[in-house]
Amino acid sequence: MSDAPRFALAIHGGAGTIARSEMNPAREKAYRDGLEHALRMGGTVLREGGQALDAVEAAVRSLEDCPHFNAGRGAVFNADGQHEMDASVMRGDTLQAGAVASVQNVRNPVTLARRVMEKSPHVLLSGLGAFEFAHREKILLEDDQYFFDQFRYDQWQRTKGTDTYQLDHSDGEHKYGTVGAVALDVHGHLAAATSTGGMTNKRWMRIGDSPLIGAGTYANDATCAVSCTGHGESFIRAVAAHDVHALMAYKGLSLAEAVRVVVHEKLPPLDGDGGLIAVDRTGRVVLDFNCTGMYRGHLAADGTPVTAIFKD
Ligand code: ASP
Repeated sequence: MSDAPRFALAIHGGAGTIARSEMNPAREKAYRDGLEHALRMGGTVLREGGQALDAVEAAVRSLEDCPHFNAGRGAVFNADGQHEMDASVMRGDTLQAGAVASVQNVRNPVTLARRVMEKSPHVLLSGLGAFEFAHREKILLEDDQYFFDQFRYDQWQRTKGTDTYQLDHSDGEHKYGTVGAVALDVHGHLAAATSTGGMTNKRWMRIGDSPLIGAGTYANDATCAVSCTGHGESFIRAVAAHDVHALMAYKGLSLAEAVRVVVHEKLPPLDGDGGLIAVDRTGRVVLDFNCTGMYRGHLAADGTPVTAIFKD
């Protein structure tokens, strides 16, 4: 007899070399408050019998609106001093997916990704084309000032004019990245969503794993829903999110075992620092990472938000 909850939700706010010594109580509280708010937004949808897709969108929108996380409002600066954002969503019941890459001035890229899935014949739109679509769909836009953050600006100044780019969570002062959510709803359906500003000082319209279905995001009602965070190039090469699904579908592994293989065996040889969150069709959640920390949270069986940062 399983004691798994009837619905489940897990979120992340990025993973990386997060040192306890650099965390002060006020900063930790700000991150935890942001995570808890997102869990509450997604949890309300699920408790009221809503869809997993609505829950992951609500949770990710909340994280995109929070300036502490590298997505939406808190997106990092690219080499041109702009904010280029990537996002994706996938539903496990129909295997429909939508994504956007290198979009600017979109308040909630996750909502635009969902709109691509529902209102276009495509899966992934990028750059100006995605912006044109956003305009047509009356998606909420913001001016550049909305995305300005002094911390982010200073972070960019340290790499500006150099050939180096920086994963948000590998920066000495500001160690968090991408946001994501996975959910199981009371109807037995799974969904996943991921959203990011990518890397500080990125050039050439660099795109990471977050908007790529199978790499940074994947959902399939037969197995699990997954959202990744970490060194995007490695996650792309490992096809990380889909690999968790494949290990369960083809090898019969449990969710925990499949996640362990991907995070601790497959990614490290590819320099794949990071982690992922996943939920299976019974509502079990796994939040795992191969670096020092991951901003993360899930709903306990009684619906209470639980958040964590380090390997507790
Ligand atoms: N995976 C994201 C990217 O490579 C970054 C991150 O998760 O922090 O764009």
